[in-house]
Amino acid sequence: MKFINSVAGKIGLEQLGKTLIHEHVRTRSECVPVQFPRLYDAEEEYRLAMEQVVAVRDRGVKTIFDPSVMGLDRDVSFMKRVSQDSGVQIIAATGIFTFHYLPTRFEANDIDFMAEQFVKDIEEGVQNTEVKAGFLKCATEIQGLTPGVEKVLRAVARAHHRTGVPIMTHSAPSEETGLLQIQIFEEEGVELNNVLIGHCGDTDNLDYIERVLDKGVYIGLDRYGITTTITTEQRNKTVRTLIEKGYVKRMFLSQDYCCTTDRLKPESLKKSLLPDWSMTFLLDKVIPTLLSQGVTEEEINIMMNENVKDWLS
Ligand SMILES: [Zn+2]
Repeated sequence: MKFINSVAGKIGLEQLGKTLIHEHVRTRSECVPVQFPRLYDAEEEYRLAMEQVVAVRDRGVKTIFDPSVMGLDRDVSFMKRVSQDSGVQIIAATGIFTFHYLPTRFEANDIDFMAEQFVKDIEEGVQNTEVKAGFLKCATEIQGLTPGVEKVLRAVARAHHRTGVPIMTHSAPSEETGLLQIQIFEEEGVELNNVLIGHCGDTDNLDYIERVLDKGVYIGLDRYGITTTITTEQRNKTVRTLIEKGYVKRMFLSQDYCCTTDRLKPESLKKSLLPDWSMTFLLDKVIPTLLSQGVTEEEINIMMNENVKDWLS
């Protein structure tokens, strides 16, 4: 691949620049906004998204990959508006974010029916717009490979074969589900250097992370600022150790920040629970700390600018 679909059209890989590989300009419960719109404030969501995206733009970020898909209330028109108004390139995804459940429409149809929908999102456009998806997304949480989850993984693999766009996952390192995802992708014949196993930094179990890396995939150390499960220093230590072991060309740093989420009230999100979580934390605090601990500018550049091009090509 020499080009990727952004929400504003095709862009060359050289245009990607400094990239945040996993952030969300907005997430919401699927269905709830349609049924109970009084709970949501679209303009406030836009304001909060712009606040963060403009802040990272001012720190040199050119591109954000937003892996919101079905299950996170993906809205490519919202993404496009934020992209146009901020000047930051946003790459939208297709796929399904589920830990077990599938809607009857997909339950009642086979894997290839699902794959076909993903392919159309990539080749024709998402949600009856001209915005095309640039990558594929799926999830395997602590529930493991439920029938619904396995169907999504196989459909994602088949859509990858038909389109060539890469795959990003949400995984649960505590249950080693990254390896389950890899197993399904191998069964479907996916070349694993097209796969990014997300959230590997949520553990400091290096044995597990290396078993994932040794399959030839990319990994996301992509939840900086989420300190409920693991501290920032533990995340940093994992990053430093993996670089020392020679894995820098397989690693991505990001925050999985959600400019809005209806899972937590904004007050608890900001103050007590996750005080550091934002789209700028990595750039303002984490990278300077890593540099002071011996990581080089060149290694940061590889993780923030170079690896994305390799993953896509
Ligand atoms: Zn995410």
